[in-house]
Amino acid sequence: METLDYIVVGQGIAGSCLALELLDRGAKLRIFDESWRDAACLVAAGVINPITGKRLVKSWRSGAAHPYAKKYYGALEGRFRAKFYSDKRILQLCRSEEERELWLSRAALPDYAAFAEGPNRAGAFPLLNDSEGSYFITHSAWVNAAELMSSFKRFFLSAGALAEGAFDFSKLSLSGSLLEYSGVRARRIVFCDGWRAVKNPFFSWLPYRPAKGEIITVKSDAEIPPYIIHRGNWLMKCGHDTFRAGSTWDRENLNADTSRKACCELLKAAENMFREKHSFEVVGQSAGIRPCTATTRPHLGAHPADSRVLSFNGFGSKGYALSPYFARHFCDWLCGIAELDAEADLSRHVKKFYRRGV
Ligand SMILES: Cc1cc2nc3c(=O)[nH]c(=O)nc-3n(C[C@H](O)[C@H](O)[C@H](O)COP(=O)(O)OP(=O)(O)OC[C@H]3O[C@@H](n4cnc5c(N)ncnc54)[C@H](O)[C@@H]3O)c2cc1C
Repeated sequence: METLDYIVVGQGIAGSCLALELLDRGAKLRIFDESWRDAACLVAAGVINPITGKRLVKSWRSGAAHPYAKKYYGALEGRFRAKFYSDKRILQLCRSEEERELWLSRAALPDYAAFAEGPNRAGAFPLLNDSEGSYFITHSAWVNAAELMSSFKRFFLSAGALAEGAFDFSKLSLSGSLLEYSGVRARRIVFCDGWRAVKNPFFSWLPYRPAKGEIITVKSDAEIPPYIIHRGNWLMKCGHDTFRAGSTWDRENLNADTSRKACCELLKAAENMFREKHSFEVVGQSAGIRPCTATTRPHLGAHPADSRVLSFNGFGSKGYALSPYFARHFCDWLCGIAELDAEADLSRHVKKFYRRGV
């Protein structure tokens, strides 16, 4: 029987970054991935945004994780001979006087000044609905998720590290000193199974709050400046007359079905970004489920009853921004040269949520 260091379950963006980091450190591993239709990684917008949310706050750990992601994806482009990373500013159109005031107060803070530029006066972008003014978020970027994920897949397949198919929990044996699964022995197993952690017998007790998100692709004669345009939702040019618009949030309907409701919501948001009326023809729509958590922090670390069973998951709506940095961090922890980030360490949830014997 083949003996490995790791089994990795899930080849989303989290599992891919982790597996690559482990391989680069000399580990022997096998990834099992089912390519579930509801996985978040293929649907994602791939935006790396340092200032997010209604309250315009700095994204958690963006100070370390975003510069690392830029270097990481740049190096990966060379290695995979593919293009999937671009620095791209976000043009934030203010929706109200309050939003403009909030932004002005944020931009005055030393921590935020480097990430916010403006304000741009109302009417500075004559094609857009910028009647309340606008501003730029800088140090933002766009990752072409489909291109990156197919490059990762090609790489793992050619390295003989990827087995395509569902991971069957009933076939995992933990009784020996090495765990056994489907003809291989391994020292450890890492679950990077995205929102499906809610059905994972080892980690479903963790406080996940998955959220479905939908994105539409439209054709239009509208013109936009070369930025990611944000006004509650976002709009991005992705071809000569083609745009992507997203994203919705739905915590009730956790499936990969696209809905008319989401399509209408996104079309309306896209129309509202322009001063004049434009026609939009919907040519695509997709849905995925984000592995969000109750604390908005990832769930990293070992199962409380078996330290060989690990979780590298819970990256919520920020998997592309955070996975490269946390893959390195997690490997440093596995090698015993770093403590887990206390906010992401899943052991903080044990007392409240874990029931022994699970
Ligand atoms: C609409 C939308 C927009 C988004 N926009 C952004 C954005 O702009 N920027 C950003 O950084 N993030 C964004 N995200 C979030 C991002 O997609 C997620 O954070 C990221 O995909 C999480 O990565 P993951 O690898 O943990 O999970 P996933 O991407 O869900 O991957 C999990 C993988 O595990 C596999 N798997 C699960 N269970 C099993 C099993 N039992 N056996 C075998 N394989 C299994 C699945 O098939 C899948 O391939 C967005 C998400 C959505 C839905």
